[in-house]
Amino acid sequence: MIPLDLPLIKGHPPRHLGGYTLHDSAAPVKVDLFIIGGGINGCGIARDAAGRGLSVVVAEQGDLAQATSSASTKLFHGGLRYLEYFEFRLVREALEERETLLVAMPHISWPMRFVLPYHRNMRFEGDTPTGRLMAAIMPWMKGRRPAWLIRLGLLLYDTLGGRKILPATRTLDLRSDPAGRPLQPKFLHAYEYSDCWIEDSKLVSLSARDAVIRGAKILTHTRVISAERRSDFWHVEIDGPNGRSSVTARALINAGGPWVEDIIRNVARINSSEGVRLVRGSHIVTRKLFDHDRCYFFQGTDGRIIFAIPYEQDFTLIGTTDMDHVGPPGSPVCTQEERDYLCAFASQYFAKPVTPAQVVWTYSGVRPLYNDGAKSATAATRDYVLSLDQNGPPLLNVFGGKITTHRRLAESALAKLAPFFPKATGNWTAKVPLPGGDFHHSKVADLTAELKSRHGFLTEYWAARLIRAYGTEATTLLNGAKTAADLGQDFGATLTEREVRWLMSHEFAQAAADVVWRRTKLGLRLSPEQIGTLDAFMARPTTAQSAHRAAE
Ligand SMILES: Cc1cc2nc3c(=O)[nH]c(=O)nc-3n(C[C@H](O)[C@H](O)[C@H](O)COP(=O)(O)OP(=O)(O)OC[C@H]3O[C@@H](n4cnc5c(N)ncnc54)[C@H](O)[C@@H]3O)c2cc1C
Repeated sequence: MIPLDLPLIKGHPPRHLGGYTLHDSAAPVKVDLFIIGGGINGCGIARDAAGRGLSVVVAEQGDLAQATSSASTKLFHGGLRYLEYFEFRLVREALEERETLLVAMPHISWPMRFVLPYHRNMRFEGDTPTGRLMAAIMPWMKGRRPAWLIRLGLLLYDTLGGRKILPATRTLDLRSDPAGRPLQPKFLHAYEYSDCWIEDSKLVSLSARDAVIRGAKILTHTRVISAERRSDFWHVEIDGPNGRSSVTARALINAGGPWVEDIIRNVARINSSEGVRLVRGSHIVTRKLFDHDRCYFFQGTDGRIIFAIPYEQDFTLIGTTDMDHVGPPGSPVCTQEERDYLCAFASQYFAKPVTPAQVVWTYSGVRPLYNDGAKSATAATRDYVLSLDQNGPPLLNVFGGKITTHRRLAESALAKLAPFFPKATGNWTAKVPLPGGDFHHSKVADLTAELKSRHGFLTEYWAARLIRAYGTEATTLLNGAKTAADLGQDFGATLTEREVRWLMSHEFAQAAADVVWRRTKLGLRLSPEQIGTLDAFMARPTTAQSAHRAAE
């Protein structure tokens, strides 16, 4: 048996794991929970379970958050449009979570205001319960959304989730408010409401890091090739950087996202009637289209909605589409048709049309929705479904979910498994900060100014970027640097050797793409040559070894 060769991560606990010792025998490692999938659901459950005293191993076939969890619209939101589907449970839970999560991660999450311009031609999504109700009681509206209904929805949105930090909805006169300037003059009025931004893939790497600090093992670039029930435990075969090995576990969690069904059928080899509906969502990024810091919520004449969001200081993010995804979920791409659709949609609102030539980057992700038989991709439920298979040692399959509800999903998952782990402690994650998030959410500007005054060479942008990425840990990362040269090799766009080494030793980064597209978004500012230089630097055996030494 090949012993598990675990990446060394700062805060890595002793090799002793929940009563079982790694690396020391020919016997497979035995743990309480084995989790397949290093997206937000796998890492969120791992963090929660480790904090309850369970021994946990997560296996991720590539980089953390390489799939859906880095391709979201990046909102902690209740989901205004789900109200039209009467998904009140989901909306309430998500609205409550926004502030709980904001408090726990004030560096990577922040409040945002959303401007919803009103025009009488905006229509309902085709076949929603609200649409059907309105067609019955106000047939003359012919699918149009009346203003009073939007106001009612926003009133519910303001009150359902027990809002304390985020400001309430207000109405705007677009003829005088700066939010009206980039829009066509036919938009006279708007509603403005609150939700939050979240750096989705950072949330995953920080959750994984916190899980490790609490005793979990995270294996990246490690694919689960089979999982088999043997009397009262699971025997899991994995294939990682050091070849094949196995782990035994008392329970198995399938958090494989878009692969959830494939894992049930082809990894665990179980016949199940449950299935996943793969719905692709694509985004486009342009240079910034407007100068203020609010987002737009645009309703289309086709019943759909999209967002236009200020992004990475100099850009605008527009999305998303909603299309049934055919084929393997591995590398979805934004098609030309989706790109053109998003440009045309946004051009119904902006005074200057948005053209495909303005698009500087696109990304695409696949929603792993529970297949509830809905007619359209847009109508399929966004709520999560946890199905527990108890035909032997437990298997918990995770379908759907939102970044916003990942913490509650983890609590529900552990509640389902509680009968199997009577010694596990109770819920604990609400408002417990992620690494670097131990400061008040109103203090970001103060922290940034402090960092800049302590390290005089930092520009405003650079200091703000570091606080947003590392919070209170930015000071530790800079480690007293007096000049930019103290931070080692300069890869461009304020990315230095010191930061790269930190990401390798603390946040599981192994290649340039992990750094420039998931732990940061500096890929938008670096040239392909600069990214190539970074890749070569990270691939050097000496870089990896010294990053590991720094973690010990
Ligand atoms: C376009 C779009 C926009 C969205 N916007 C929002 C939003 O604004 N707000 C919000 O709250 N939610 C949003 N969501 C939903 C949210 O992104 C997802 O619910 C969430 O990311 C799903 O996480 P996951 O961990 O289940 O899946 P994933 O992130 O896909 O993780 C599953 C992981 O399992 C790994 N895996 C699979 N098979 C194996 C194997 N055999 N061995 C090892 N590893 C394996 C995969 O590599 C993958 O990394 C959006 C989703 C999409 C697609």
